Amino acid sequence: MSDVLFDKPKAEKFEKRIIGWYEVYGDKDLPWRRAGDGWAVLVAAFLLRKTATQQVVRIYDEFLRRFPTPQTLLSATEEEVKNVIRPLGIEHQRAKHLMELAGVLEQRFGGRIPCDKKSLDELPGVGSYIASEILLRVCGKPEPLLDRNMIRVLERIFNIKSAKKRLHTDPMMWSFARALLPKDPELAERFSYGVLDFARKTCTAKNPHCNICPMKDLCASFARSAEKQAPQVPPTEKQQGPSFRAPLAHLRELHRRL
Ligand code: SF4
Repeated sequence: MSDVLFDKPKAEKFEKRIIGWYEVYGDKDLPWRRAGDGWAVLVAAFLLRKTATQQVVRIYDEFLRRFPTPQTLLSATEEEVKNVIRPLGIEHQRAKHLMELAGVLEQRFGGRIPCDKKSLDELPGVGSYIASEILLRVCGKPEPLLDRNMIRVLERIFNIKSAKKRLHTDPMMWSFARALLPKDPELAERFSYGVLDFARKTCTAKNPHCNICPMKDLCASFARSAEKQAPQVPPTEKQQGPSFRAPLAHLRELHRRL
């Protein structure tokens, strides 16, 4: 993070406010946010891909009731799995991916969810975001849930910019997000989901709701746009310098002569 200035007091205010905001406005009651079991967290992450939250809510509990472990999923037929997830669409692809994942978990890890990054990276369909979510939620090893939504909030508030095309692969972004993350796993969880919900509900990609935003006074992007919109005050004579004063002196002299 050497090339980014880390403003600690601002980071602390941001952390406090995000956690406070999450308590009031966050989606704390989503079933997968209450789940403490690694398989349940993984299933949610897989089902939520390209799918609206409310659609997943409708089938999530039923899925876990039928397939509470990787082993139970492997004992089912693909058709049985597809029947449960059909309301989400692309059920063939989803069933195939979930069964592949369950297979690797069973064969390589005895049905348990690994808690080291290297093993998580080897699981099919598990990218850096899902691996972080497992480390944060299941393993008590806080890692940032860095996706494009979190990146947007960090860029706007802290005025950081990545030079990389694929922002979520930028090590600078990861270091910055890690530095913001509370060390306590429980706080880190509330903070992380707080940022994601805040990004989705308030600091939206288009037309962010700056007028009601509790981060206004911390936000670099808001300060820039407020500056642009500030009414233009005509410059004083002193600010204008000699080129402005000369004609005035000339006019005064003319007036004196008349
Ligand atoms: S002031 Fe606007 S841009 Fe800044 S964090 Fe709030 S909603 Fe996002």
